[in-house]
Amino acid sequence: MAEIAAPRGTHDILPAESASWRWLLQAHDRIAESFGYRPIETPIFESTELFARGVGAETDIVEKQMFTFTDRGGRALSLRPESTAGVVRAVLGAHLDQERRPVRVHYRGPMFRAERPQAGRQHQFTQVGVECIGERSPDLDAEVIEIAWRFFDALQLTGVRLQVNTLGDAEDRRRYRDALVAYYSPFRARLCDDCKRRLDINPLRLLDCKKDSDLVAGAPVMWDLLDAGSKAFFNDVLSSLEKAGVPATVNHRIVRGLDYYADTVFEFWHDSLHGAQNSLGGGGRYDGLAELLDLPPAPGTGYALGAERILMVAQRLGIAPGPDPDCDAVVCSVETPQAQVAATFARELRTAGVRVVLDVSERRLDRKLRAADRLGARAAVIVGEEEVRDGTVVVRDLFEHAQQRVGSPELTDAVSRVIRMRA
Ligand code: AMP
Repeated sequence: MAEIAAPRGTHDILPAESASWRWLLQAHDRIAESFGYRPIETPIFESTELFARGVGAETDIVEKQMFTFTDRGGRALSLRPESTAGVVRAVLGAHLDQERRPVRVHYRGPMFRAERPQAGRQHQFTQVGVECIGERSPDLDAEVIEIAWRFFDALQLTGVRLQVNTLGDAEDRRRYRDALVAYYSPFRARLCDDCKRRLDINPLRLLDCKKDSDLVAGAPVMWDLLDAGSKAFFNDVLSSLEKAGVPATVNHRIVRGLDYYADTVFEFWHDSLHGAQNSLGGGGRYDGLAELLDLPPAPGTGYALGAERILMVAQRLGIAPGPDPDCDAVVCSVETPQAQVAATFARELRTAGVRVVLDVSERRLDRKLRAADRLGARAAVIVGEEEVRDGTVVVRDLFEHAQQRVGSPELTDAVSRVIRMRA
């Protein structure tokens, strides 16, 4: 029979990679929580309708990239391609905005998009993000951007470039859509197939096209069509960022692929990720999203960052931590009769907080010590016939190749001393 491989576009996180994942995820939790954001978890699948209405039925994500299935009751469900719509549903559905406004939450977890798999683009990937729901203020846009910035700082991920733009309000965008249609219509015949469709249903997305990039370069610029209020809001975001010491580049070509954005939008770029996949993440303000979901109106702002891409950059920069040792100490019996005593010592050490692998196998002691080395253990505790008889035990420092015999009551102290030398 053929071997069953992992599904296309997915990857396993093996134990050796867990230290770098933990490093990234814990740093994000820590930074988000330092700004008063609390964790939230929503289901990895939702009703398809949530994304059709929330993300936008005409977006690439909903049209082409969702994993959709029907449950036994005939309801259409989709694996979540992003988290904002689900988080807004959860927060407003539980009326959290009646207890506090804004509601500040952060999340992490797998997302699913059926894009053509390539480096930095998978079917299952992980995002970390924050959402700040229930208040409209340029300071809150700046706050979420600052969280992401401090997170990159905490990882010491250098070379991140923040790009910010504004999409204005609904009226601004209607004017802009008209201007784009007027500009692109004479070129319809030469547009790529995607752009022909975008021209009819979602003209803003014309600016995302990589094939018709010469046309993109000459297209009207949103900023020129914004009303004074939208410009003032954006300028306030910029000055808030400046006060926070977060360097931002204004880039009027950033439109973002999801329909729910309005006013502030932003992306974090890294040059070591080439081409279309150079974005580590992004976000923006989504004041109209709640209403699209038939929920009471609630403004919001937030971001999502791709963990795999951040780890790719971290690896290139050499800042991701290497694998953790499997354990601190190995307790070995020399022969089978000492197995019980060895197991008791192992339990004692674990209770004291030492990470212990117990090796009471039939292998010879030198093999056991070599295996202990491979696990990255600093200390080996050797329990032989003589040790059991005298109530003593040998504690060996596997790095220094030094060993001492101690009475069993001193075991924990002796092992702790050896382990502490690691630091
Ligand atoms: P988006 O929700 O499209 O703005 O995506 C935010 C971030 O999630 C991107 O900048 C990527 O870092 C990451 N991301 C999005 N789609 C994928 C994917 N298919 N594979 C890996 N990472 C992705």
